Amino acid sequence: MKKEIPYKIYLEEHEMPKQWYNVRADMKKKPAPILNPQTLKPITLEELSEIFCVELAKQELDDVNPYIDIPEEIRNFYKMYRPSPLVRAYCLEKKLGTPAHIYYKFEGNNTSGSHKLNSAIAQAYYAQKQNLKGVTTETGAGQWGTALSMACSYFDLDCQVYMVKCSYEQKPFRREVMRTYGASVTPSPSMTTDVGKKINAEFPGTNGSLGCAISEAVEAAAAQNGYRYVLGSVMSQVLLHQSVIGLEAKSALDKYGIKADIVIGCAGGGSNLGGLISPFAGEMLRGEADYKLIAVEPISCPSLTRGKYAYDFCDTGKVCPLQKMYTLGSGFMPTSSHAGGLRYHGMSSVVSEIYEQGLMEARSVRQTEVFQAAQEFARVEGILPAPESSHAIKVAIDEAIKCKETGESKNIVFGLTGTGYFDLYAYQKYNDGVMGDFVPTDEEIETSLSLLPNIDI
Ligand SMILES: *Cc1c(COP(=O)(O)O)cnc(C)c1O
Repeated sequence: MKKEIPYKIYLEEHEMPKQWYNVRADMKKKPAPILNPQTLKPITLEELSEIFCVELAKQELDDVNPYIDIPEEIRNFYKMYRPSPLVRAYCLEKKLGTPAHIYYKFEGNNTSGSHKLNSAIAQAYYAQKQNLKGVTTETGAGQWGTALSMACSYFDLDCQVYMVKCSYEQKPFRREVMRTYGASVTPSPSMTTDVGKKINAEFPGTNGSLGCAISEAVEAAAAQNGYRYVLGSVMSQVLLHQSVIGLEAKSALDKYGIKADIVIGCAGGGSNLGGLISPFAGEMLRGEADYKLIAVEPISCPSLTRGKYAYDFCDTGKVCPLQKMYTLGSGFMPTSSHAGGLRYHGMSSVVSEIYEQGLMEARSVRQTEVFQAAQEFARVEGILPAPESSHAIKVAIDEAIKCKETGESKNIVFGLTGTGYFDLYAYQKYNDGVMGDFVPTDEEIETSLSLLPNIDI
């Protein structure tokens, strides 16, 4: 007999994954190796360990082991806010009048308000294991900085966050959350690093950029003994940690005998999307099942849909390893968009390779239609979604409406990565009817792509 599906499918604590899933192990054609930014040769474990903690560097380079144990300390922390629910969007289905079944995996149930904590806690754990004093990082919209500050306070590590100046001023409350967890937050560009001083001298009164904040954070880590720089997306280690999202979603579906037809995630650097789709993509790669996987990106920053698959720098400062990825060029400056977490020029090399192999499709959507979907969702499902997450909502609604037209009752699963309480300035713009849409011209993209490093290996 079929079990009735509850509004929220929870797993028991003991059903939580004990291992992360590394989809690279099941890929016949692996993502291209990451390169040392100085030598432009595949980076060695030794070299990578100067940038990341040794254990994280190992995970970064591991494309053979499908399962990697989640240390017990990390599992214990996960238990404070996981397993996260897989919610059946009964009210949204009813509102849309669709025969489709819509499910969302909700990652906003922790103070940082997003999935980023899943990797922050892992990175802080390995840093503490290695007896580091602390870590430095940048934050744009603020979600990653918040997650990392929570993780660092748990493991008693110092946390130094360089926050893009315009966010620092626009989102003072995020800053206070980070400070409450003990992080120091510096508006970037600052006068505390050489690169910050240089940028301030060159561009007086600048609002800062993510690229600049990365460069400051990297410099600060290198200048202090016992510090490492950490990243919240794009890297394969981050995708690995985020696989906890997909593994839990898969177990919850299996528990009720539900077979997903469509799996949708928003794509910034690709970490939540990669984590969500990994177990599904794994089944596709092993020839066990088929799914329609969809990445959703903002039309203002369309790396998958309009970018090029090539080696590029992960940061404007060109200090992080290079990845072969779908990219708009590391100098690409997306016009201001309110989905701060999706304003990244490139895409995780794992997600890029999955896309290149045709296992996943990609769509780009306009910010105004994203906020319309966010509003529609909030009004029936209650949760105030983050603008980033709302990209996935938009496409989930589109797919559900298609089902209404064809009469098909498909199972649609999407990732609801976080809440939008700190994005009310953006909601205000939308509610006031003054939100615009930005679409980069072909010329802008070509100019940026013409500056890609010329690497052929
Ligand atoms: C950072 C963020 C994203 C995008 O990052 P990915 O690495 O692409 O997952 C999406 N949603 C929320 C809520 C975020 O904070």
